[in-house]
Amino acid sequence: MLEVEVIASNYYTNKKGPRAWKTHIPNLPDNMLPAYLNALTPNDANVKIKTSDLHNPSYDPSIDLAVISFGTANAPIAYHVAEKYRNQGTKVIFGGVHINSINNIGLLSEAQQFADSVCITEADQVWSRILEDTVSGELKQIYHSSLADIKQTPILTPNDRSLLRKPSISSPFVSIRTSEGCPYKCNFCSIYKIFGANYRFRNIEDVIEEIKLIKPITSFYGTKRYVSFTDDNLLGKMTRGLTLLEEIASLGNVAWVGGISSDLINEKSVKTLAKSGAIAIFMGFDKFSGNDLAGKNRARFGEKIELLHKYNIGVEGAVIIGHDSDTPETLRNIEEFFIQNKIDVPSVNLLTAYPGTDLWDEITEQDRLKFPVKGEGEDWKFWARYTTEEVNIKEHPHFTDDELFESYIKLWKALVSGSSIRNRFKNRIIHPMILPNIMYNAFLHDGLPQTVIRAAIKSNSILPKLL
Ligand code: SF4
Repeated sequence: MLEVEVIASNYYTNKKGPRAWKTHIPNLPDNMLPAYLNALTPNDANVKIKTSDLHNPSYDPSIDLAVISFGTANAPIAYHVAEKYRNQGTKVIFGGVHINSINNIGLLSEAQQFADSVCITEADQVWSRILEDTVSGELKQIYHSSLADIKQTPILTPNDRSLLRKPSISSPFVSIRTSEGCPYKCNFCSIYKIFGANYRFRNIEDVIEEIKLIKPITSFYGTKRYVSFTDDNLLGKMTRGLTLLEEIASLGNVAWVGGISSDLINEKSVKTLAKSGAIAIFMGFDKFSGNDLAGKNRARFGEKIELLHKYNIGVEGAVIIGHDSDTPETLRNIEEFFIQNKIDVPSVNLLTAYPGTDLWDEITEQDRLKFPVKGEGEDWKFWARYTTEEVNIKEHPHFTDDELFESYIKLWKALVSGSSIRNRFKNRIIHPMILPNIMYNAFLHDGLPQTVIRAAIKSNSILPKLL
């Protein structure tokens, strides 16, 4: 029997960053790779798959093949783990976002020195071959396939999902994907470069079947695990998205979170979101400097957030700071925008030029990468600094590097301060999205959870009834 260990992680461990508390809740939501590889393994193959987290691998010497999938910031950890597996005689194959990103900039050899093989693009079409070649001792250096037709994606069974973590408080999400790809082409993003600039959709019937299978491991609002849609934009194709949501609504008692582009939020879509059990939406906001979030645009975003709140759907609002057009006033505007519009959970990121993006090309051309990686010596160690929590692009026109970083931390602290949380949740039904705020607050401020709870009680929420 071939023993395979799938080692993956969704999160980096920047223990000093604002999101460090999340390192206590690894894989939030779960990295789905082990379940997918199990589903793609032919029934007659004599293969046993187990899984572990990149930050806690088993180093079991009986493993024949270690599959390691990782993002850019985790690359140095992944290389270290790979070396240890290879030293004990285990074959190693790499895949995931970082491998595809460095392949796009001609730096694949950086990873190849630490692995026996690499898988470019998605594993769907090559997984069986990888298993066969491992058994025959003929693992190729590179497996390359075109983007998969995800209509053929197998429905994950409870057996596949048993490779993911068991239901527990530290794992509040059950992940599921309904589509891949994104046509928006943001210059800092690698998604469309790797997974395609067009949406690829699964069959709605398959998605519904899979939700039925995971329902027993979720429960409803208040006690629960949420279904977490991993799509970049759940309503990417509006008519298809609304049909999917209607089908989910007919299942009853599903509570879910997912990402939706703000331009798709309107009275009709929000009603359907609410009916289908949407608890919170992840939404990215464009630049606050320049024209993107000025004047009418800003008011338009405010109306959309108000509409979601009317149906008690929370908003995790993501914003990127560090664009060349950003000034200190931009950061003040962001703070005001988040508080004025009662955005439930803030997510502030420093602009980072990830390999393989258009931004990488632009910043490399300008020689402004703060941690340049050119494939020389051990410069791959710099990838650990590509976290969106460190200044990654130097010579900002309006800030020194230190000023930009300090402004970033100051903004985070302001957004999760006791008074910010109080103002954002005042006079609203208490929402589960208050919990991340409490975690951020506890991490970035000293001893404030009590303040927050007191504030929530004062705010006419339902919390007093629960207490
Ligand atoms: S909308 Fe999101 S997923 Fe799509 S390209 Fe922009 S950042 Fe990437």
